[in-house]
Amino acid sequence: MTDRIYNVAIDGPAGAGKSTVARRAAAELGFVYVDTGAIYRAVALAVLDRKVDSTNEAAVASLLKDTNVKLQWEQGVQHLLLNGVDVTDRLRSPEVSDASSRVSAFSAVRRFLLETQREVARQQSVIMDGRDIGTVVLPEAQVKIYLTASAVTRAERRCKELREKGLEAHYEDVLRDIEERDYRDMHRALAPLRQAEDAVLLDTSALTLAQSIEETVRIIREKLAL
Ligand code: C5P
Repeated sequence: MTDRIYNVAIDGPAGAGKSTVARRAAAELGFVYVDTGAIYRAVALAVLDRKVDSTNEAAVASLLKDTNVKLQWEQGVQHLLLNGVDVTDRLRSPEVSDASSRVSAFSAVRRFLLETQREVARQQSVIMDGRDIGTVVLPEAQVKIYLTASAVTRAERRCKELREKGLEAHYEDVLRDIEERDYRDMHRALAPLRQAEDAVLLDTSALTLAQSIEETVRIIREKLAL
């Protein structure tokens, strides 16, 4: 390993496999994996816990004045501290997912979380995943990857995942949810999801998970000459 700090940005639509690919690639390269969705989810949790109306930007902005969000790592696993309390286990509920996609469209929220993300990337070599990492958060990242797959592939993967967990999954519903979320993420006014001009496009529609990880690591090593 070298002492240099490397920043890798991985962006893409929901369900493309970004978090699994980014986590496994980071482990292989000895970088820290940063899941930025978690910090939007933490703000959403604060909004829900304090019973603030998640559609009211002024009320959400006001809540941020006494909200503290901190990322920390224990044995390589990311933990999220909300006002000093570890809330990692509470971030993945459907209510939090829904509220996070709404509060993430507010400029006060995006501004509030921007420095937290940049600070983490200044301190250590990271693979950071999200929607606007290559375009807004880390425009100077040495490697940018836009990881995607067709909506049909993402819906199929999501159904398989749900069924493996013993949950019911209706393909048409899952596909519609994915298409709606894509539309919202790509068409919001602030930091919409798009491929940065200098990002490498990696379409995993025809790749297995292992192949997607391998290809991601290959792109990173090639760009960083590691
Ligand atoms: O990636 P994840 O599903 O955990 O993200 C939760 C929500 O946070 C998403 O719905 C997305 O709109 C928002 N988000 C964002 N920018 C990021 C990461 C996530 O707007 N960099």
